[in-house]
Amino acid sequence: MSNTPLPPQKTVIRFNASQTGWSALSGTDLIARMPQDFDGSLNTDIATLQSAADDFGHIVHAQPIAVLRPASVADVIKMMTFAYQHNIRVSCRGNAFNTFGQSQVEAGIVIDMSSLCSVHTIAGEIAIVDAGITWRQLLLASLEHDLTPVVLTDFLGTTVGGTLSVGGFGGTTYQHGGQIDHAIELQVVTGTGELITCSATENSSLFNAVLGGLGLCGIIVRASVRLHPAPKLARTHRLHYPDLVSMLNDLRFLIRAERFSHLRGHCEAIRGKFSYFIEATSFYTAAETLPSDPYQGLKHRSSAEVVNDRTFLGYADLVVEVVAALNEAGLGGYPHPWLDLIVPDARIETLAQQVIDSINPANVLPGSPILFYPMLRSKLNRMFPPLPDDELFYGFDVLRTVPPHPGLVMNALERNRHFHELNRSLGGRLYPISAVKQSRSDWKKHFSPNWDTLLSERIKHDPGNLFGHSVGL
Ligand SMILES: Cc1cc2nc3c(=O)[nH]c(=O)nc-3n(C[C@H](O)[C@H](O)[C@H](O)COP(=O)(O)OP(=O)(O)OC[C@H]3O[C@@H](n4cnc5c(N)ncnc54)[C@H](O)[C@@H]3O)c2cc1C
Repeated sequence: MSNTPLPPQKTVIRFNASQTGWSALSGTDLIARMPQDFDGSLNTDIATLQSAADDFGHIVHAQPIAVLRPASVADVIKMMTFAYQHNIRVSCRGNAFNTFGQSQVEAGIVIDMSSLCSVHTIAGEIAIVDAGITWRQLLLASLEHDLTPVVLTDFLGTTVGGTLSVGGFGGTTYQHGGQIDHAIELQVVTGTGELITCSATENSSLFNAVLGGLGLCGIIVRASVRLHPAPKLARTHRLHYPDLVSMLNDLRFLIRAERFSHLRGHCEAIRGKFSYFIEATSFYTAAETLPSDPYQGLKHRSSAEVVNDRTFLGYADLVVEVVAALNEAGLGGYPHPWLDLIVPDARIETLAQQVIDSINPANVLPGSPILFYPMLRSKLNRMFPPLPDDELFYGFDVLRTVPPHPGLVMNALERNRHFHELNRSLGGRLYPISAVKQSRSDWKKHFSPNWDTLLSERIKHDPGNLFGHSVGL
């Protein structure tokens, strides 16, 4: 354990089975009873606790009593066994790139998985890794074998366990599904401290509940994920449009044409006005495989195209660079009340236009794009996250950075709530990394029609109800 002073004593209300009732123990009492022989570190210094009470959103702050940085799966088992015996809430944290406290827990224990980040094997087209590894670390390791994870999130700073718990979508999802679709086998530590291996054929109900299941049934400690041959290069065409409708029409055309490896629609405030463009990227090794007429059938502003050539890694790293630049500019610490919706194709124009009309482009801070990721139902085969029934829908991401003023944050959260409800009424779904407060009844709607299935897995694997407090479950 770190030697720094203990934080102010928090009272931890817990159910005491031996006394058949509720009792209160100070955080200090509980920490004193915690196992002391972890391979990693148990941290109770105030700086670590405060950092665990923050995330990319900088809106919600729930402070734990301790943060475990495990160095082994045994550490996670030991801590979960202790938490179960003492009925202490637990939250699992990847790199906390969510925006509304999803990886925090008030007066509980945070298990910070970023310390568990080894590559165990890369063999054939499968990587076996610790769940705290980032997709960037995994990509670098797999590139040494001329392989890449089949689907990368556009930002590589996320962890394997973190995105497998939410979905993990990117510009290649319209062809290859989500990262969850390429998880082959998981090792999960449950809410009772049991280590269970699961896959589509072994303990499949746990496997299905954990993928996209927000860490409600257990902690993914190890994952086998599918790889495929890595291209060497990436050529991106930026295609400009006068408005939303024409941009979406060409996006639909390109989805059907399957001409590009990676597709993403943009609406961005540039010099006080919204600009609409598509970034369409070919991943390739041999130039002969590039589309011979990349603009055939498209209705963009011709002769305004911008073409960029990069290495595949250079392309995959772009958002890491953007985030670093925003941090350098001092905007990283600003609130990010992000809204990430999954919107059926038939509703996207109506909903997106309303969202865009609600934002004054003159007030938009740098690094606040609105993005459209096409997704096809037939490529997405997991139970969670819940998705629309339509064949074509979009990950619609309103990625706003706002000045740290409570009124502005509140305003953005109210708007998020409004558009989330509107989207839900139109048959859409929420990507639950969003800054949207959800009640139990919201979650019930969110996970429908598989809410009961999730509940029964929770009862089985988290009978102490230790996970899920961060999301109000
Ligand atoms: C700049 C930026 C770009 C992004 N780009 C994309 C993108 O292209 N595509 C996309 O899909 N998402 C994207 N995201 C969202 C990202 O996927 C989520 O933030 C997600 O939460 C993963 O981040 P993380 O690994 O830091 O996990 P965290 O945010 O720490 O955790 C996410 C959730 O998973 C749980 N969890 C974490 N690790 C585990 C584990 N090992 N076992 C069980 N539960 C766990 C947490 O308790 C929490 O509920 C982006 C986010 C940012 C900030």
